[in-house]
Amino acid sequence: MGVYRIQVAVPGPFYQPLTYLSAQPLKAGVRVRVPLRSRKVIGVVMGEKEGEGTLPEDRLKPIQTVLDSEPALTPSQLAFMAWVARYYHAPVGEVLQLFLPQALREGQTLWRQGVHSWRLTQAGRQADLETLAQRAVRQRRLLRWFQQHEAGSVSDLRAWMPDYRAPLKKLEEKGWLEAYTQPCLEAKALPVLNRHPLNKAQAEAVERVVLGAFAPVLLQGMTGSGKTAVYLALAEKVIAQGQQVLVLVPEIGLTPQMVQRFEAWLQQPVAVLHSGLNAAERHCAWTQLAKGDIQVALGTRSALLSRFQNLGLIVVDEEHDPSYKQQEGVRYSARDAAVWLAKHLNIPVVLGSATPSMETLQHARSGRYQHLKLHERAGGARLPRLKLLDIRGETIQEGVSRPLYAAMQQHLSEGHQVMLFLNRRGFAPVLMCHYCGWQADCPACSTHLTYHAQPSHLHCHHCDYQRPVPERCPNCGSGTLMPVGQGTARLETVLQQSFQVPVVRIDRDSTRKKGALDAQLARVHEGKPMILLGTQMLAKGHHFPQVTLVGMLEVDQRLFSPDFRAPERLAQQVIQVAGRAGRGEHPGEVLIETRQPEHHLLQVLVNKGYEAFSEQELAVRQSVGLPPFQYQVLIRAQAHEQEAGLLFLQQLLSSLTDTEVEAWGPASAPMIKRQGYWRYQLLLQSKHRARLHRCLDQLIAQMHAMRQYCVRWSVDVDPQDLY
Ligand code: ADP
Ligand code: ZN
Ligand code: ZN
Repeated sequence: MGVYRIQVAVPGPFYQPLTYLSAQPLKAGVRVRVPLRSRKVIGVVMGEKEGEGTLPEDRLKPIQTVLDSEPALTPSQLAFMAWVARYYHAPVGEVLQLFLPQALREGQTLWRQGVHSWRLTQAGRQADLETLAQRAVRQRRLLRWFQQHEAGSVSDLRAWMPDYRAPLKKLEEKGWLEAYTQPCLEAKALPVLNRHPLNKAQAEAVERVVLGAFAPVLLQGMTGSGKTAVYLALAEKVIAQGQQVLVLVPEIGLTPQMVQRFEAWLQQPVAVLHSGLNAAERHCAWTQLAKGDIQVALGTRSALLSRFQNLGLIVVDEEHDPSYKQQEGVRYSARDAAVWLAKHLNIPVVLGSATPSMETLQHARSGRYQHLKLHERAGGARLPRLKLLDIRGETIQEGVSRPLYAAMQQHLSEGHQVMLFLNRRGFAPVLMCHYCGWQADCPACSTHLTYHAQPSHLHCHHCDYQRPVPERCPNCGSGTLMPVGQGTARLETVLQQSFQVPVVRIDRDSTRKKGALDAQLARVHEGKPMILLGTQMLAKGHHFPQVTLVGMLEVDQRLFSPDFRAPERLAQQVIQVAGRAGRGEHPGEVLIETRQPEHHLLQVLVNKGYEAFSEQELAVRQSVGLPPFQYQVLIRAQAHEQEAGLLFLQQLLSSLTDTEVEAWGPASAPMIKRQGYWRYQLLLQSKHRARLHRCLDQLIAQMHAMRQYCVRWSVDVDPQDLY
């Protein structure tokens, strides 16, 4: 009997697979259980080790169990995994965890048939709560829950009542509940067929995307220009050829309306993948896509790492959205990775946006991507007018200037809706002492605590620290502490007092409860005059046809941010927010409050539009040598000890020898202290991507050897956010 040396990627901070012994050859992609230190872990076979290796056989441990009779990950996925690990300089053991759904990481069978669930029996439906003993509190709660919900999966139950098992057993013994498997592919009614013919520009765009070959395409068109209809028409063609389609959307862009629109057009069920799924639901969707039972997947970032039977098209909607970049762990960009995967699979990839990123625009300009444009709003709706509202010297009541106030009155009296956009939730960003100027700060971060009025408390939006509002100033003892500055909650209160129409606030606080967002959106869609108020959550994915006026508050500070991407982000947000308005028969109007009406960014954007802005912005980036004309890597280091991170990065920098790689820093992070850690960063930049990456390899090896500094470090390739 031969002995095979098998390479296994195991979970954890391992940059390379580890070698184990097996009595039989194993296919790449198969899950195995292997010993690791004192534990047993589940890893994936990457291949057979070539040659003898350095360790003698008696030092290697045998694979304990082989979990799969066929590979869990396909050869394409393994290649994709290896690329992600290499390009983002991430441990393969961490990348692996992204590719395996939780159920597979836990060793469950590869294919899931359904979700283990419980449901009410006929007797249970009629059961009288009062026949249960008063003391049986949990049984009563559980029965009441089932009488409301009829059925629930084990994970629903666990999330709702962690100790559900014992009472559930009791109710089962009484014959009131029964176990069953809710099938993954439940026959459900599809929405009625809803397709419209494409206009000329759309039809041409569909025509120009060649299927069956690698073809990156930038589809640029403003919100409402009919990009989604182009995705749908393309999807239809791809499905007709027997292939699958993946549509990626930003984190907050995945709405029930979007799912419904896909199902109505394509007349087939769509697998929806987002972070709100529990492990069983995710595994179900994964199984269906892997087996080809479902042809269309709609999902956020991580959906890209799913297993597909035969993927034929990837769409990345709102490709400029920063949520495509993962901000912790493996810091991959799903947009960039989508292009790699499309190339690997030799299929088209469509990047859609009204406001493309500078990176994607530059690819289009250089001819690497096909650039398709949709100029008009589909369905004839007119573009909203952008206008700067000079508020220098104006009376401002709680953030709303007199002219904006007047415009709001006007639009509301005409029976329309108004939307205000303020990118700061809570009541006020600072709580300050009226006498001595003391400010309530977070003990763990270098930031102020946000004051929330309902219920009254102070909250750090960076580390989640919360505390009650002090009765007296801790510094001087005065009893007058004042909320300073404007948050959405404060604005809501003010608007409720000044206007006679309902005010609907949409931000992370007001939509925390499950179903709250849908309920609020439903109110807006009734179409009655009202004021909609929110943070950037409002700027994405939603259609508000009755909104004819959009007001943007407090944009000025973003004109002067040290982040070189701030102008791009601001311009994108202005255009995106504008796109929410006037999609119905009424044209929209967008008013931007500013004390910098002459600022060239605002001028170009308002008078000439996003394309002019982006041309100008790219010229600036090129002249000063910033991405997308150069490549960047950010190394972050943080420690409890104040200077440790800085010393660590200084030491690291001294070993940088490549003269083609520029270093900026080390410097403190924009937020120097966060969650109790002091944070520093070192930015590396080069014209030569390959050299930058080679240099990073050396630095990473070095950092592993610098244990004595006791810092936590990370590398961020193509960083999007310098925080
Ligand atoms: P985008 O994705 O660019 O925001 P959509 O595809 O959502 O644009 O289109 C905006 C609206 O116009 C939708 O309500 C859509 O149903 C409608 N629409 C799109 N294309 C057409 C068309 N060719 N004819 C009529 N209505 C259209
Ligand atoms: Zn004071
Ligand atoms: Zn904090």
